[in-house]
Amino acid sequence: MTKIIDGKKVSKEIKENLKKVIELFSSKPKLAIIQVGDDSASEIYVNMKRRETTKIGIDFMLIKYDSDINEKIIEETIKSLNKDKSINGILIQLPLPSNMDAKRILNLIDPIKDVDGLTNYNIVKLINKEDAIIPCTPFGIIKLLEYYNIDVRDKKVVIIGRSNLVGRPLCNMLLNMDATVTVCHSKTKNLKDYTKRADVLFTATGKKHLITRDMIQKDAVLIDVGINRENGKLSGDVDFDNVYKKCSMITPVPGGVGPMTIAMLLYNLVSCYKKQNNKE
Ligand code: NAD
Repeated sequence: MTKIIDGKKVSKEIKENLKKVIELFSSKPKLAIIQVGDDSASEIYVNMKRRETTKIGIDFMLIKYDSDINEKIIEETIKSLNKDKSINGILIQLPLPSNMDAKRILNLIDPIKDVDGLTNYNIVKLINKEDAIIPCTPFGIIKLLEYYNIDVRDKKVVIIGRSNLVGRPLCNMLLNMDATVTVCHSKTKNLKDYTKRADVLFTATGKKHLITRDMIQKDAVLIDVGINRENGKLSGDVDFDNVYKKCSMITPVPGGVGPMTIAMLLYNLVSCYKKQNNKE
C-alpha cells in the first residue's frame, strides 16, 4: 500500500522540540524579515513565518518597503541588522522586484545570520560538505527522508528543477549522501526518459500535473515540492490522484514538503542563536 509522507506530523514534532530548547535559553531568539513590494504569495509566507515563530517563542520583526525603494536603503538596513546583537537571523523574502540584484543583496547578510542559507559563503560550505546553514526546503526534504528511513545511497535519484532555492542545494545534499543524482530542468528533452528511471523522484517546478502516471517507475518514492495556487486551492507538480497507487511513498500538497520548510527555518534560527551565544 502507498504510504503518505506526512510533513505536517514531522514538522510538528520538530517545532515542539525547538519550543522546549528555546524555553531553556536566557533570551528569546529573534528573526528579522525584509520584505519588498506586495507580492501576494510573499504576503502569505511572511504571515505564516510570523505566526510560526511567535508560537514557539521566537521574536519576529518585519521591515517592509515599497517596491520602488532604493537598493541603498536595503543595503543599510542589512548592515545595521548584521551589527544588531539582538537579531539572530536575517531573511530577505523572495522574490525581490525584478529590477533589484537579489544575489548581491542576499550576500550582504552576515553568513552567521543567514537563516535561509543562500549566501555564497554557506553555499560553498554545503558543496564542500562543511558545517553550512542549509536552505530550508532541501533541508526539510532530507529530514523527511531520514524520518521515513528512505535510503538514497546507491539509488538513482532524479531532481526536476535547478533553482538555487531547491534543486541545486538538494543535488549537493543527495550527492553527499552517496545517491546517484540526475538534475533535469526546463531545457531537458524527453523528461520521461529520466523520470522513468528514478527510484526517488524530486520535483520542484511549479508546473501543475507535470508528472503523470506513465512517467514514473512502479514503487518509486515521489517528493513533490511544487506549489500551484488555483482558486484558493493548492496542488503540486504531481498528478496525485492518478499517480498515487503506482508509487510506494508520496508527499501530498499541501501537507508534505511545505510544513517542513517553515520548521527548518525555525531550526536554522535556533542553530544561529546557539552559535552566536556559544551554546554548542
Ligand atoms: P524556480 O522558478 O526558480 O525554478 C523552477 C525550476 O523548474 C527551474 O529550474 C526550471 O528549469 C524547472 N522547470 C520549469 N518547467 C519545467 C518543465 N516543464 N520541465 C522540467 N523542468 C522545468 O522555482 P523554485 O523557487 O525552485 O520553486 C519551484 C516550485 O517549488 C514552485 O512551485 C515553488 O512554489 C515551490 N516551492 C515550494 C516550497 C515548499 O516549501 N514546498 C519551497 C520553495 C519552492
